[in-house]
Amino acid sequence: MQVVETKQIVKNYKNHRHSMLALNDISLSVEKGEFLIITGPSGSGKTTLLSIIAGLLEQDSGEVLNREANNMGILFPFHPLEKHLTVVENLTLPLIAKGYGRLKQLRRVKQLANIFDLNTNLRYFPTEISEGEARLYQILRAMMPFPKLLILDEPFSGVDHRKAVRVMTYLREEAIVNNLTVIVVAHDVRLHPFAHRVIRLVDGKISSSSGDIQLDQEMPHYFRI
Ligand code: ADP
Ligand code: MG
Repeated sequence: MQVVETKQIVKNYKNHRHSMLALNDISLSVEKGEFLIITGPSGSGKTTLLSIIAGLLEQDSGEVLNREANNMGILFPFHPLEKHLTVVENLTLPLIAKGYGRLKQLRRVKQLANIFDLNTNLRYFPTEISEGEARLYQILRAMMPFPKLLILDEPFSGVDHRKAVRVMTYLREEAIVNNLTVIVVAHDVRLHPFAHRVIRLVDGKISSSSGDIQLDQEMPHYFRI
């Protein structure tokens, strides 16, 4: 089943001075349980595409279907942790919005924090932790409400490679075991083998695509750490 489908998406940013064609005819289907990496130079339209898929931005023309719009976890660089809340308060916010009780909220924080080995500074404020740590907590925040579709826009900037591998390993497992669909912008080619498919955007177009969701449904041995 296709979770996300875009057909001939076009997006132009216009203001009084100039117009910028950010997406030029993007057609893309993402299967349930697929792990998709999007790469490409800065300014190629990655954030614009993910924003449109997430429903945060409207395309000029073309169609977007997102079957998990109500079960999404998202991370965008323009949506940092809330500075006036502690890390744990930031993490529980998405669950409060969903009506989870306090015990369930804290159990979920503990579960994810344990998986990523991030237990030391849950009571800190975002200004008291490093940029890389803040990024990891942004990933956790996106995963808190048990999403079925996870959209992560450059989640690993400032995150060390070992931690990034840990996150990718977990997400790949979730894709296989629980059919989580993952779309992540990641540039480091060492992370690309975790994905079923890697697509590259250049100048608002898909310039290349490699891999296939059908290739495997089991964890290849080199993902085990
Ligand atoms: P990427 O995420 O690949 O770096 P973006 O989707 O952020 O690319 O941007 C694609 C192009 O659209 C860039 O040239 C960028 O300058 C332009 N752009 C993005 N957002 C805006 C905006 N709000 N107003 C005008 N131009 C924009
Ligand atoms: Mg971007």
